[in-house]
Amino acid sequence: MFDVVVVGGGPAGSYTAYQLAKSGLTVLVLEDHKTIGKPRFCTGVISKEAFNRFDLPKESIQREIKEARFYSPLGSILNISRDKTQAYVVNRTVFDQGIAHKAMDEGASYLLSTICDDIDIRDDHVRVKIETQGERFIFKAYICVLAAGTNYRFHEKLGIGRPVNFLDCAQAELLAKDFCSMEIYLGTEIAPESFAWAVPVSSDLVRVGLSTTKRDSSYLLRRLLEKDIIRTRIDKIDKKDIQIKRKVIPYGIIKKSYSDRLVVVGDSASQTKPTTGGGIFNGLICSSIAAETIISAFEKGRFGHKGLRIYESRWRREIGHDIRMGFYVRKIFKQFADQHIESLLRLCNINEIHAILKKFADFDRHSYFLVEFMKQPIFWKYLFFKTSGLRYLSTHEGL
Ligand SMILES: Cc1cc2nc3c(=O)[nH]c(=O)nc-3n(C[C@H](O)[C@H](O)[C@H](O)COP(=O)(O)OP(=O)(O)OC[C@H]3O[C@@H](n4cnc5c(N)ncnc54)[C@H](O)[C@@H]3O)c2cc1C
Repeated sequence: MFDVVVVGGGPAGSYTAYQLAKSGLTVLVLEDHKTIGKPRFCTGVISKEAFNRFDLPKESIQREIKEARFYSPLGSILNISRDKTQAYVVNRTVFDQGIAHKAMDEGASYLLSTICDDIDIRDDHVRVKIETQGERFIFKAYICVLAAGTNYRFHEKLGIGRPVNFLDCAQAELLAKDFCSMEIYLGTEIAPESFAWAVPVSSDLVRVGLSTTKRDSSYLLRRLLEKDIIRTRIDKIDKKDIQIKRKVIPYGIIKKSYSDRLVVVGDSASQTKPTTGGGIFNGLICSSIAAETIISAFEKGRFGHKGLRIYESRWRREIGHDIRMGFYVRKIFKQFADQHIESLLRLCNINEIHAILKKFADFDRHSYFLVEFMKQPIFWKYLFFKTSGLRYLSTHEGL
């Protein structure tokens, strides 16, 4: 019998396993792929703060990010640059493997090519049914950590609810030149209700991707790759050779992230940022809280939902506000026509707003800037005139 079985060897599962094993608990991690971190469909942008706060594999860092450029469909560009590094672009395979190795070094066991088939919570233990190389086994543990990413097959049975909101994402890694900063492309035709991005990985490699709540993301991405802003900078390759990978990102809080002998972390608990869809930093925060809660449950011998409830209240206290705020921002953004996006970027280029942006824009906590933004009278004027934003802004001094 193990102390804890973790289902899923992504960053959330492995970081929880790392901390639990470090505290002396016996931990088994189940991962359905034969290699940790492969395949991975991710842009790999992780804040510098995440690297400062958590024990993360620095060898996964491919590039530093100091600047972001936002492109309106009607021509305006907003440039936010800082002197210091704000985030890193990482190789997700190396990143995921680095965390898993830390967990293994602390004594966690990993079973790869192993599918968790069922999670059965009993009064005095959890039974986890697995299938590996055509054989079936049952493992027992005191607690199960569900960190299975976007596989929600167990959620209903376990009574924890599934996420209801998803972003459909597509991404391609391409040989390219002249991509120096992170670029964000906005517009109802480009990425309906969301955004597209180009993130340079090295001097000749870029990750171009797109998220949307509306239509087929891979079709939209192919269309974006045809646009001058991308086409002229990527190496000429046959269209059919471009490998587009597609995946969903959940957003919005799920009903419950714990139960008797069960804790849910990462994308499994929909702990992503609704604004960008980034989930690694939040997943790591919640993994740490999950591990602390489980360690305390072992100390007290309390494995029921009452003993694990603190997990949910703690992570909601830390990131719940930002998730809720991001959710509403996305709701408002959904209503934006291209004109509104244009006027918003022009608003952000006004000196006083741009200064606030530079000072308060935080890579992980978007509510900091939003709160400061909302304190500005010009923001309310903008909101009031939203339907005729361009007309208002074009009459504003300095535009
Ligand atoms: C296109 C795209 C770009 C992204 N870019 C960024 C970014 O730049 N920055 C950022 O912070 N986030 C980004 N994200 C989100 C980020 O990838 C996720 O939030 C993150 O991977 C979640 O980590 P996790 O450990 O919760 O889940 P995952 O990384 O999905 O890991 C879960 C693991 O569990 C395994 N598993 C599932 N079911 C079972 C089972 N039954 N048995 C055994 N194993 C199982 C899976 O195979 C997987 O390996 C992006 C997502 C997409 C789709």
